[in-house]
Formats: sequence, structure tokens, C-alpha cells
Amino acid sequence: MPEAVRIDGKGFADGLRARIAAAAEAFALHAGRRPGLAVVLVGEDAASQVYVGAKGRACIEAGIASFEHRLPATTGAAELLVLIERLNRDPEVDGILVQLPLPEGLDEQAVIAAIDPDKDVDGFHVINAGRLSVGQEGFVPCTPLGCLMLLRDHLGDLSGLEAVVIGRSNIVGKPMAQLLTDANATVTIAHSRTRDLPEVVRRADIVVAAVGRPEMVRGDWIKPGATVIDVGINRLPPTEDRPKGRLVGDVAYAEALGVAGAITPVPGGVGPMTIAVLLRNTLVAAHRHAGMDAPSGI
Ligand code: NDP
Repeated sequence: MPEAVRIDGKGFADGLRARIAAAAEAFALHAGRRPGLAVVLVGEDAASQVYVGAKGRACIEAGIASFEHRLPATTGAAELLVLIERLNRDPEVDGILVQLPLPEGLDEQAVIAAIDPDKDVDGFHVINAGRLSVGQEGFVPCTPLGCLMLLRDHLGDLSGLEAVVIGRSNIVGKPMAQLLTDANATVTIAHSRTRDLPEVVRRADIVVAAVGRPEMVRGDWIKPGATVIDVGINRLPPTEDRPKGRLVGDVAYAEALGVAGAITPVPGGVGPMTIAVLLRNTLVAAHRHAGMDAPSGI
């Protein structure tokens, strides 16, 4: 059996970002302002600081205005809600993202609920979850939408394919299953209580692993020729030659390469798609706020 095709998420995301940059420039010419994304970071979580920095740089590269609000970990709920209310009203701000996790003591659900659903470019607001569920236009969480884009790019029509999504979180697993259902796949959602997970995965033409357990999905769980999307990002303990620890996905990549038809690597697969789709959602929000049709092909 030939080795699986490596799905180049980084390359796809680079292309998407270039198309977004062109569309953002056209938007600015027409609307007289750039699309704008406000990112709110509360506290000093190291990983969150890296993500927020990366999002800000990606905005600037794409011609999207980036408004960063870095608040101390001691920020109270009332103060945070006042800021969100101000961003909701700000006509320069098309998208609002509150970086999670929030420090202990702040209620994430209450904070997300305060964001105007039409500026909720993360797609985490219950209104947007509801819109996705009933098939209305809204915002879809970035990571699963990025996975769908890679699947469509690689497979084309997904009609009738058997898809197994491992994981049922609100930010990845559930919206992923919804998107695949809307794309006419036959979808199974697996989770920690699923019986005989290897056997469930073996029937899938499409496997999306979003678990957070390093290399849990083994090569012999995969149906020959299946397309495997590995959402997991897990850092292994440091070793002598890898003092920072190696990054691996939820799929045993080397084993899967010999069985799958195609697979996303970690890193360089799904990860780069998440920020690209965040930019895409911000651009779409800007068009909606300006009463313009969103550009096609992004
Ligand atoms: P969550 O922890 O919220 O959800 C994990 C899911 O996996 C749960 O539904 C859980 O089941 C299920 N699960 C846990 N153990 C098992 C098991 N042994 N067998 C089957 N299912 C199991 O994680 P997220 O959805 O937030 O993230 C998943 C992974 O994706 C993580 O590695 C995360 O780092 C990564 N990620 C990557 C992103 C990217 O940009 N590439 C973005 C977001 C996440 P149950 O519900 O029963 O507990």
C-alpha cells in the first residue's frame, strides 16, 4: 500500500491568508476602513500570550486592524463586561475574541454570552451554536471549520461517507460533527464512554481525532485509504535531544501513514488553519456589518 498523502494544512492556510489579504484590501477601499479584530487577554498564561501574539501578527499581515486588550489577572467580571460592551458598540471592531482559559473566578460562559453574537468570530456564543445547529448563517468555530475546508479540498464531495469524530467538546467535536452532517456525511461521535473505539474508528472513511491524548489512535484502527484529520496538539515530556518536548497529535502518525489514504501532520496540519479561519470569520463579519456580500472563495 502506498504511503498516505500528507495533507498540507500550512500550505492551504497560507493560500487562504493570501486570499483574505486581497479581500481585506478590497473591503478597505470600499468601506473606508479595515476589518477589525479585538482580542482580549486576561492574565499572564504563557500559552495564551503566544496565541494572542500570533493572532495579532496574522491580522496585520492580512490587512486586518488588530486591537489588543491585555488586562491583569486580577481583573473583575464587571470590568471585563464593561470592556466587552464597549467593543460590542465600537464600529471599528468587527470581531471580538476573548482568549480562553480565563483566570479562575471569571465565568467563561457569562463572558462569552456578553459578546454580540454578530461579532463572535470564535463561534462560541450559544446563539451561534444554535444557528449552526438549525442551519442559519452565523459564525462557526475556527478549528472545525478549518478541518472541513481541508476535507473538502482533499476529498471534494463528502456525501455518503462514513465519518467518525472522536471528541464531543463544544469548540471542536460537536461543531465538527454538525458540519460533517451538513456536508451529507454519515456521522458518529465517539467519546470517553464509547465502547470498542477501535472498531468504531475502523468503519470510518473520515476520522477526525480531537481528544487531547498523544497518539491514542493506532494505525490498525484505521480503515485502509481513510482520510485522517488529527486535531490533537500534545507536548511529550522533554528528552535529551528534544529539551522542549516533541509535539504529537492524537494519532500515531508513523503507523497511520502506512494505512491511511491521507493524513494531516502535527504540527503543520490543522493548527495553522485555526488562525486563518479566525481571519476569515473576521473578514466575513466586516462584510456583514457593512451590508456587503462576503467575498466568494474564502
Ligand atoms: P476537550 O478536552 O474539551 O475534549 C476532549 C474530548 O475527547 C472529550 O469529548 C472526551 O470525552 C474525549 N476523550 C477523552 N479521552 C478519550 C478516550 N480515551 N477515548 C475517546 N474519547 C476520549 O478537548 P478539545 O476538544 O478542546 O481539544 C481536543 C484536542 O484538540 C486537544 O489536543 C487540543 O489541544 C486540540 N486542539 C487543537 C486546536 C488546533 O488549533 N489545532 C484547537 C483546539 C483544540 P468525554 O466528553 O466523554 O469526556
